[in-house]
Amino acid sequence: MMKTILITGGSGFIGSHLCKLFLTEGTQVICVDNLLTGSISNLNSISKHPNFVFTKHDISTDIEIEGPVNYVLHFASPASPADYERYPIQTLKVGSLGTHNALGLAKVKKAVFLLASTSEVYGDPLVHPQPEDYWGNVNPIGPRGVYDEAKRFAEAMTLAYHRTHGMDVKIARIFNTYGPYMRRNDGRAIPNFISQALLNEPITVFGNGLQTRSFCYIDDLTQGLRSLLYSDFNEPVNLGNPNEMTLLELAKLVIELTGSKSKIVFQALPQDDPRVRQPDISRARKILAWEPKVDVRTGLLKTIQYFKTLE
Ligand code: UDP
Repeated sequence: MMKTILITGGSGFIGSHLCKLFLTEGTQVICVDNLLTGSISNLNSISKHPNFVFTKHDISTDIEIEGPVNYVLHFASPASPADYERYPIQTLKVGSLGTHNALGLAKVKKAVFLLASTSEVYGDPLVHPQPEDYWGNVNPIGPRGVYDEAKRFAEAMTLAYHRTHGMDVKIARIFNTYGPYMRRNDGRAIPNFISQALLNEPITVFGNGLQTRSFCYIDDLTQGLRSLLYSDFNEPVNLGNPNEMTLLELAKLVIELTGSKSKIVFQALPQDDPRVRQPDISRARKILAWEPKVDVRTGLLKTIQYFKTLE
């Protein structure tokens, strides 16, 4: 029997990669998305695939799906800080009500549930790198609180369904990820820097650029998500690339790889911007036998290639 996977947020950056990955493996894929920050054009290459269905729906409201569903993957949410500042209430709703609805659907279908959580649950971390047993340092009422707290609530809700209803759940704490099918105007560092570099416009580094992130290429992430989905582990697992760099280093690397004439300009650091971030992926290595393989230069070159096709 063909398995069916339902992916909320399936037209977004990570969601659209997952739709394509599971279709190539002979799975039926149902994409549920309200297109608030996702793009239907991300699905152009699969829109006519016989095993693919797109449903325009806001998962923060009740959902009914006919037929069997074996896996529910909850990826719907604004994920760029610029987006969750623009859509604070939708972000809180999709992390709370949306997670509740997606869990409810998984429960009636007796499906495995996977939550797309985030490194933002660690906030501006006081432990570095971040292991899963670190509880985090989050400002609940700051501009990022709408995302961070919604995802923290979503994790609590997911484990409550596991403990109360015996549901098979997975929680992926996804660290900074990049690659093709990010939007040019996404607002996050890599799409911003590449878009600016290709136009020879100033590269906007926020603060002094000495804050760090660790960037994971999308294909590595989707392989990690797939392994987690098919694992028997129910607690959170960090998925990301531990290769940490400063934003200034990233800006210089993008200028080098694009051969751009852009200059770096410094702009104000957004409130509560985490100063450091690096995943401790010991758990993923041990439980999933997973680790990222794509180095940042290779991944950036592929992403730059994609952004050039958008021009
Ligand atoms: N950033 C930057 N310039 C930009 C966009 C982002 O310097 O044009 C910085 C941002 O302040 C943060 C880092 O890049 O320190 C990563 O930001 P992003 O929005 O990509 O994701 P975050 O990790 O903050 O969720």
